[in-house]
Amino acid sequence: AKFGGSSVASAEQFRKVKNIVELDDSRRFVVVSAVGKADKDDNKVTDLLYLCHAHIKYNINFDNIFKMIEDKFINIKNELGLNYDIEGELAKLKSEIKKGIDEEYLVSRGEYLTGLLMAEYLGYHFVDAKDLIFYNYNGEIDYLKTQNAFDNIIREYDRLIIPGFYGSRPTGEVKIMTRGGGDVSGAIVANIADASVYENWTDVSGILMADPSIVRNPVTVPVMTYKELRELSYLGAPVMHHAVVEPVVKLGILLIIK
Ligand code: ASP
Repeated sequence: AKFGGSSVASAEQFRKVKNIVELDDSRRFVVVSAVGKADKDDNKVTDLLYLCHAHIKYNINFDNIFKMIEDKFINIKNELGLNYDIEGELAKLKSEIKKGIDEEYLVSRGEYLTGLLMAEYLGYHFVDAKDLIFYNYNGEIDYLKTQNAFDNIIREYDRLIIPGFYGSRPTGEVKIMTRGGGDVSGAIVANIADASVYENWTDVSGILMADPSIVRNPVTVPVMTYKELRELSYLGAPVMHHAVVEPVVKLGILLIIK
């Protein structure tokens, strides 16, 4: 199961995720995006991290933006009564930024920190995606290496939380995906777990026939082929990243958009 940014945007959303996950015992591998917008005037952590990096590049003070990121994580932690030292993680990140930080690594911290909190909240084992999702030199997923890592981890742990949107290069550095890539991480995890179903939990239930912010109550398309999904998303339908299709179609995994 993959939960998008709006599905993990606040403590209240974390509670919903926990309810959903606990309703079905077979939801064993959970992929999360970075904390997203809690309402329309809010900002996504990923956008704020990109903005932090732009400030550093042009030597502009980024304290205010970083504070917005800190507040989001600390509020979720406190509201849910979690113990994880997220303040320590944030302080470490801030000092890394000051020393000069790689943009992809910095931007990936949104899902990393979200995953850490979600892991404690659900009681699932946290797996850093840099130790699970491996890329080749040509920028494609190295399925052999990724599958091996997954098989080793599940020998020891039964239920995993995996941050979406990044993996690692053959040289070990973090490599991020294109925007919305958490969907692709979910599809890769579904593939290596040989799942029968990949549930993608997002802010609209299914693929609608029109943009719900323009058309009131559009009808949902009940069933679609992988090819149709890939073409629609490739042409710009924002529900799903077009690269989700490849990892699931190979194994005939049913993709359900919830
Ligand atoms: N957090 C990333 C983004 O905003 C990836 C994702 O949400 O899937 O693009």
